[in-house]
Amino acid sequence: MQKHSQKEHLYKLLVIGDLGVGKTSIIKRYVHQNFSPHYRATIGVDFALKVLNWDAETVVRLQLWDIAGQERFGNMTRVYYREAMGAFIVFDVTRPATFEAVTKWKEDLDSKLVLPNGKPVPTVLLANKCDQGIDVLMNNGIKMDQFCKENGFVGWFETSAKLVYGLSANRLQIAIQRNLDV
Ligand code: GDP
Ligand code: MG
Repeated sequence: MQKHSQKEHLYKLLVIGDLGVGKTSIIKRYVHQNFSPHYRATIGVDFALKVLNWDAETVVRLQLWDIAGQERFGNMTRVYYREAMGAFIVFDVTRPATFEAVTKWKEDLDSKLVLPNGKPVPTVLLANKCDQGIDVLMNNGIKMDQFCKENGFVGWFETSAKLVYGLSANRLQIAIQRNLDV
């Protein structure tokens, strides 16, 4: 039951990036706590709602916008981006080309959308499929913090839509395999 004094905030968040990087899977994992290994391209505009009971007075509704099979064009329309408050740009750590596409997605976004205060939309970079090996990024010599700074990302995270226990469990497992201190 909604209390009389409760405030509601609705935020539109974009999830963009190349085809097959795991956008739909990340949204499903976050919103519905499940994962499907079967590939199904998103068709049509799709969004999922995540409700966060932020504190006693505040409810936050996150509207996560999945892109709709237009990935191959490498850009979206202004109408699609309109009124978003934040964005995630996703790449697949096993496919360097999807990382190269990240700057293209960022440029597309920034050229078509600014916040009411004139600033770019806060954007977070997600390095997905880290269950496939967290060293892939390092092996490619990609310095992620530096990359984020230079390209205007507020930060980056390694993610896995596949692992139930998330990346920390994966890291632990890899560290144990290598006999490192954890
Ligand atoms: P989208 O095109 O960006 O929406 O990508 P999908 O979410 O449809 O995922 C593409 C494929 O990658 C599917 O077969 C998923 O099961 C798989 N996938 C997505 N995320 C992960 C992940 O974190 N780890 C692994 N191993 N596979 C993933
Ligand atoms: Mg999809």
